[in-house]
Amino acid sequence: MGGTGWKGRASDLFRVHEGFDLASVDTSATPGFSGGKQAGRALRTEWGERLSELQERLYADGRSGGSRAVVVVLQGMDSSGKGGIARHVLGMVDPQGVAVRSFGAPTPEELKHHYLWRVRRSLPTPGKIGVFDRSHYEDVLAVRVRGLVEGDPWERRFREINRFERLTDEAGITVIKCALMISPGEQLARLNERLDRPDKHWKFAPSDLDDRALWDDYMHAYQDVFDHTSTAIAPWHVIPADRKWYARLAVTRLLLDTLEAMDLTWPMATFDVAEQRARLEATAVAEGILLHKVEEEPVDDAESPAAETPPRAKGKKKGARSSKRSGASKGSKKAKSSKGSKSSKKESASKKEAASKRESASGKKGKSGRKDAGKDSSLDSAPHSAKEKSKAKGKAKGELRAKAKGKAGDRKAKAA
Ligand code: AMP
Ligand code: MG
Repeated sequence: MGGTGWKGRASDLFRVHEGFDLASVDTSATPGFSGGKQAGRALRTEWGERLSELQERLYADGRSGGSRAVVVVLQGMDSSGKGGIARHVLGMVDPQGVAVRSFGAPTPEELKHHYLWRVRRSLPTPGKIGVFDRSHYEDVLAVRVRGLVEGDPWERRFREINRFERLTDEAGITVIKCALMISPGEQLARLNERLDRPDKHWKFAPSDLDDRALWDDYMHAYQDVFDHTSTAIAPWHVIPADRKWYARLAVTRLLLDTLEAMDLTWPMATFDVAEQRARLEATAVAEGILLHKVEEEPVDDAESPAAETPPRAKGKKKGARSSKRSGASKGSKKAKSSKGSKSSKKESASKKEAASKRESASGKKGKSGRKDAGKDSSLDSAPHSAKEKSKAKGKAKGELRAKAKGKAGDRKAKAA
């Protein structure tokens, strides 16, 4: 599916099926991807455009009364790259729509409750993508391996977890479970680096070495988790993570596949768009100051009569105003991809602005979004809907400008 160098659905590549054997996983492999680090990073950035659009749709759905959300559960040994997933994958989308929660050793308050209590109350609210950096699985991994509870509650806990995840799914929250698997050698190198570099000391805990000494026990506990809690509703995905860039690419793909399958459409306007447009135009005409603002926009040579013709105004607008979305199309794709996640941070600021504008244009988009919904199942469709979006914006503004100018001309003629 979509993109150079990637083959196969992430769910097929990583999903834990019956008979899965953790010991046979090559943690340095890059299943589904034929390129190297640079190409992998570029592809993730490219996918980030689509991820960002789908996340916005999910967010819009949540703001409009929808109940859907997604939670990415990340498990893995110390230094397996869980934090990097939050930063480099979820960092590609609007931070307003993401909620990251790290689960450490339970607080005294949390210890008073059932182990699922703190997890349940950390689930994402509608429209959000939650990220769990560790999770309830610590209660059948670390707790088990370190011998922190009496007896043998594991089978019961697996059943409780499966039920909890089923109820979570029924509440509209899709659970994506990822285990980032690294080799002991890779962990050695990463922990060593953490000790070498003062700027990484904060990531190291002496207890990491206690857990490292229990490596085989952890692997057995993980195998048991996969055997008992990889369900149809919430399957496990085991991701080779010795190469950080690959693990990030793989989780991006998995998240994209999940969001695509949710078939998210733009919410319908809850108001009469034509009526609101007429009201807006009336204010533009009444307030000379607004007319002025529109004319001041640098993308338009307002003095030129040609600028008033809709096609030209539209074309210019598209380039200037929707660089974020049009970046996914053709020529600008490569340039964008080299900028990495930093560019997407900049973009998120313009997103806020776009969000408020969207409210006035959402009637139109709501319809086109719905029409597109069937086609949107591939990455390639992203630029089309983005184009339509900026076209709609450009058209609305162009019309408004032309009308406002017309009225101003009338006034001038009358005054003369
Ligand atoms: P880190 O994620 O490296 O910041 O470390 C968090 C630590 O908290 C890890 O050593 C986890 O094993 C530990 N932890 C998380 N959840 C639990 C739990 N339920 N019981 C005991 N330890 C936990
Ligand atoms: Mg740690």
